[in-house]
Amino acid sequence: MPIMEPYRIKVVEPIPITTRPYRELALARAGYNQFNLTAQDVTIDLLSDSGTGALSAEQQAAGIRGDETYAGSRSFFRFRDVVSELTGYEHIYPVHQGRGAERILFTSLLKPGQVCVSNTHFDTTRANVEIIGAVALDLPCEESKDLDSDHPFKGDVDLAALEAVLAGPEDVGLVLMTITNNGGGGQPVSMANLEAVSALARKHGVPFFLDAARFAENAWLVTEREPGYGDITPREVARKAFALADGCVASLKKDGIVHIGGLLALRDPELAQRCELLLTATEGFRTYGGLAGRDLDMLAQGLLEVTEPTYLRARAAATAYLADLAQQGGVHSVRPTGVHAVYLNAGRLLPHLPSERFPGHALALELYLAGGIRCAEVGSLYLGELDEDGTMLKPAPYELVRLAIPRRVYTQSHLEYVGEVIQGIAKDPERVPGYRMVYAPPLLRPFNCKLEPVAHQS
Ligand SMILES: *Cc1c(COP(=O)(O)O)cnc(C)c1O
Repeated sequence: MPIMEPYRIKVVEPIPITTRPYRELALARAGYNQFNLTAQDVTIDLLSDSGTGALSAEQQAAGIRGDETYAGSRSFFRFRDVVSELTGYEHIYPVHQGRGAERILFTSLLKPGQVCVSNTHFDTTRANVEIIGAVALDLPCEESKDLDSDHPFKGDVDLAALEAVLAGPEDVGLVLMTITNNGGGGQPVSMANLEAVSALARKHGVPFFLDAARFAENAWLVTEREPGYGDITPREVARKAFALADGCVASLKKDGIVHIGGLLALRDPELAQRCELLLTATEGFRTYGGLAGRDLDMLAQGLLEVTEPTYLRARAAATAYLADLAQQGGVHSVRPTGVHAVYLNAGRLLPHLPSERFPGHALALELYLAGGIRCAEVGSLYLGELDEDGTMLKPAPYELVRLAIPRRVYTQSHLEYVGEVIQGIAKDPERVPGYRMVYAPPLLRPFNCKLEPVAHQS
């Protein structure tokens, strides 16, 4: 059965169709770093699912209704009502994107030297913990380390390890659960795990927050995989998840299905007051938080659409379909397939490339050269430890490539095209060259580094 996208197309945007010689030139000009490519160089863009989704007709209409009043705009109250119905939290603040909420919450809540414990911190989340002198501690469950097993909830936190830290000498200031676990391959967190975390945090008197960028996709996977949730709607599951926590930070560029926006929501009135001061000083007044009225109205509508089972079912099916196409070509991906991305196992496909030749980056660039597909490496280029000359001190545990799927943007035929390009590369993987780092900045390496291909020694 084809995946029938539960919408039809009303506005179209042409995508660039390029030739291999064009792409070879473009990539050389970009210093063999796909972050330096421009939109006109890219045919299918799977670099990120953040802020890249397509708006619905109802969202566009809501945008027109946007009220650009400085304080107390009607758009804010429409946004607040939807978020409050979904989360049950009392104090609701819009922010310009997820990291704005992280900075405000952590600055208001964490003290230097305190520990923030998580299943896995997203990179900006970790940076915002560390920037105030606190420690970001990741405790992913054991099952997450096996990329091939079909364990349904590899996003779970290791409960025994969490309990040990909470009972130990460390001063834990916050427990933060990322749903779905983006840094951990987009794997979901079970409701059972969230319930246990909530009870542990309460027992030890530590605030418990959700990093809820993909709350709806997590809820969908709970309805699909967790016993007892098959007959409950994704929206109801999401409500139950929010009810277990003291509040959330969220990038609404993901499951808000808008181009910009974020959320900070919490219960504690005293903490809310401190956050509100920072919000006003650095994001904007409490009824807009750095967003336009039209953004708030489009968000209110997006947050209703994103929990629709027909939408979530088709999105999850599309991602699984792409993973199947890769598998048919002999290219493995992280199992079980999540919703927002397929993580290809480049290390396994390209065993002729050692970690210092960046097999994940090499596969990502090959997808570009062969088909104009842009995606990102999650391997030693991103996570490995290099010395100043670019020598690999400690490689990443895995060499992966993330194909992130924008929401409601690509159809089944686009995914079939991507699948064919992957299968073509897998027919002769030894032809894929490795890369050498020629410039590595001290910070934010993936965005700014430059590389060059290394000719094969035979
Ligand atoms: C994207 C993301 C963030 C950061 O949000 P921005 O809107 O990009 O600032 C934080 N946490 C998770 C899990 C994310 O996926």
